[in-house]
Amino acid sequence: SIVVTGATGHLGRLVVRQLLEKAPADQVTAVVRDRDRAADLAALGVRLAVADYNAPETFDGLFAAGDRVLLISGNEFDKGRVQQHTVVIEAAGKAGVALLAYTSAPESLKAALADDHRATEEVLVGSGVPYALLRNGWYHENYTEQLAPVLEHGAVVQAAGEGRVSSASRADYAAAAVAVLTGEGHENKAYELGGDEAWSFAEYAAELSRQTGKEIVYKPVSAEAYTGILAGAGLPATLAEILAGVDASIAKGELVVSTGDLSRLAGRPTTPLAEAVAAALKG
Ligand code: NDP
Repeated sequence: SIVVTGATGHLGRLVVRQLLEKAPADQVTAVVRDRDRAADLAALGVRLAVADYNAPETFDGLFAAGDRVLLISGNEFDKGRVQQHTVVIEAAGKAGVALLAYTSAPESLKAALADDHRATEEVLVGSGVPYALLRNGWYHENYTEQLAPVLEHGAVVQAAGEGRVSSASRADYAAAAVAVLTGEGHENKAYELGGDEAWSFAEYAAELSRQTGKEIVYKPVSAEAYTGILAGAGLPATLAEILAGVDASIAKGELVVSTGDLSRLAGRPTTPLAEAVAAALKG
């Protein structure tokens, strides 16, 4: 069967729904931590498995020989994500899965955020399990789901200078994952995934102005100022620093991915940023 971890997350839910357009529901397994939050997935007819990256024994016997697995990277930065992901990789290896796809980060991204991804890739490639590296670029939603303060202050505040980002919607990355999970010839490949068009924060602010009819400007700030703003908004200091590090990477062009791998795998152009903005403004 096709097994998706992190299935109750934003990306996981999209992957499961898109998988059902290509595979019968009884051949899809959603791995979740909390069965209660997966009722909507169960209602679609997919099988549920309950497991936690922090509890290796919960993955015992979860995978079967020949399975195609999507390991969606975790979001618990303080719990050792490399060890968490290794738990899944080892269980997949023991079972003899046919493919283990992992949601990584672009090779060009040198920010600290990418360290766990590079280390997980190393474990995966060294494991002997047939792998596919889905090196996902940035999501549109990282910005479009954070519009409240932007609209309130009339300013997009980032520490990314004039840097550009080729983001895409989560649904686009989900489509690429589904293509790899249901297609052939993806073993031991790495895909550099990003949106078809790179944009700058000044262009993003201009698009917000256009769609809201209000003046919204880009206000570039220093990494220190940005870290302070995020901490002031209640983010833990370590996360604020990680995000400031991503902006520094954006300033250097490290989140521009121009391989075309994403639209090629999805079989269609990626979602324009303007469309994600419109969807977010609609609520
Ligand atoms: P979400 O935060 O919505 O989903 C994360 C998923 O990981 C959830 O389903 C969560 O389970 C699961 N998870 C976390 N810890 C564990 C654990 N210990 N055991 C089992 N499952 C666990 O993120 P998205 O879906 O939006 O993105 C997927 C991943 O991509 C993120 O986790 C992160 O690694 C990365 N990411 C990428 C970004 C990008 O721009 N490319 C931006 C942000 C994140 P549960 O539903 O139970 O909480």
